[in-house]
Amino acid sequence: MKTIAILGSTGSIGTQTLDVVRANGDIHVAALSAGKNIALLEQQIREFHPRLACVWNEEDAKTLRTKVADLPVKILSGMDGLNEVAVCEEASILVTAIVGMIGIVPTIAAIRAGKDIALANKETLVTAGHLIMPLARRCGIRILPVDSEHSAIFQCLNGERQNKIDKILLTASGGPFRGRSYEELKRVRVEDALKHPNWSMGQKITIDSASMVNKGLEVMEARWLFDVSLDQIQVVVQPQSIIHSMVQFEDGAVIAQLGTPDMKLPIQYALYYPERRFLAGERLDFAKICSITFENPDADTFLGLQYAFEAARIGGSMPTVFNAANERAVSLFLHRQITFTDIYEIIRDCMDHHAVLLNPDVAQILATEQSVYERIASQHCG
Ligand code: NAD
Ligand code: MG
Repeated sequence: MKTIAILGSTGSIGTQTLDVVRANGDIHVAALSAGKNIALLEQQIREFHPRLACVWNEEDAKTLRTKVADLPVKILSGMDGLNEVAVCEEASILVTAIVGMIGIVPTIAAIRAGKDIALANKETLVTAGHLIMPLARRCGIRILPVDSEHSAIFQCLNGERQNKIDKILLTASGGPFRGRSYEELKRVRVEDALKHPNWSMGQKITIDSASMVNKGLEVMEARWLFDVSLDQIQVVVQPQSIIHSMVQFEDGAVIAQLGTPDMKLPIQYALYYPERRFLAGERLDFAKICSITFENPDADTFLGLQYAFEAARIGGSMPTVFNAANERAVSLFLHRQITFTDIYEIIRDCMDHHAVLLNPDVAQILATEQSVYERIASQHCG
């Protein structure tokens, strides 16, 4: 029996991870953690019987302790709690389904404690990939990608480790605003941005997909996961989301992974790697698929992609600035305090006013994050 712990069990990836656990019946969940949704966390505790559970606020932790007083579960809170979940002794895999840079410290703690990481939380790798990948190698643990594109690439690389990757073809749906002009993007509403054509996901990543910042983050994620240069990553828009990504080898062969858009596949693949298991759900019907089409991304309109490549090329602390500015800007957009294209302007402004640190440690990454938040707060308070 496998034992896992989950950071962010009440979110989109977290609940689908528990769907996979429920469907297979041979994984034990030792620890769960959530931000604020204590009602759902209580249900999950009653169903999966973890030894540990964590919520962000101590006040919520007190309420939850009372609610589950009949069960032998220890309720934790805050960053200490997240770290305790991450290093939970029984678990061999930590699923990082938490959103944002808050995942950095617990992910590093888990790697140090020898846990394999089923990684959904891309922001952690974007900002601290230069620390995490070497640490993972030193500790002999595996980083198993959960992001669908990266899982696709990981699957395409099966049995190919000795062969040189020529390039990674990272596919993108183009999001709900594909084909729009920058002028049109200025006027889109929160409701429009939250409607993704193919995937149902948490709010932040859905906005990131609409702005194509998500694809930019995924370029940086791919660079660290597969040890390739930025010039070896090409973003290809494939609006039907049937091809989840491809790898081209030096002989010109291109290997792709295809499937219906269902995050349970990459989640299950990461949990059972290298084994494949039955997964209920729709199958691709090639008699019905009329076409799979390809386009170049419009990086002049979707500036998120352009700025991401720029931040990645500069490196050091710049990806942290890109990511932190985006995290805060997306939150302001969701609270209707800024327009959609202000997200790009905020990222641009923060990148333009940052003096790069070359090889930042965790404290410097978190200090950079903080200074970006302060800059944005000073300009957008109230
Ligand atoms: P979500 O918003 O649905 O869920 C986030 C989870 O993190 C929730 O359980 C929430 O309670 C928890 N959380 C948030 N802040 C917290 C805090 N301060 N302390 C403790 N827990 C906290 O997000 P999601 O869509 O599931 O995405 C999670 C991660 O996976 C993101 O990094 C995202 O980019 C990545 N990802 C998601 C998808 C997807 O289909 N949803 C696909 C690929 C990658
Ligand atoms: Mg993805």
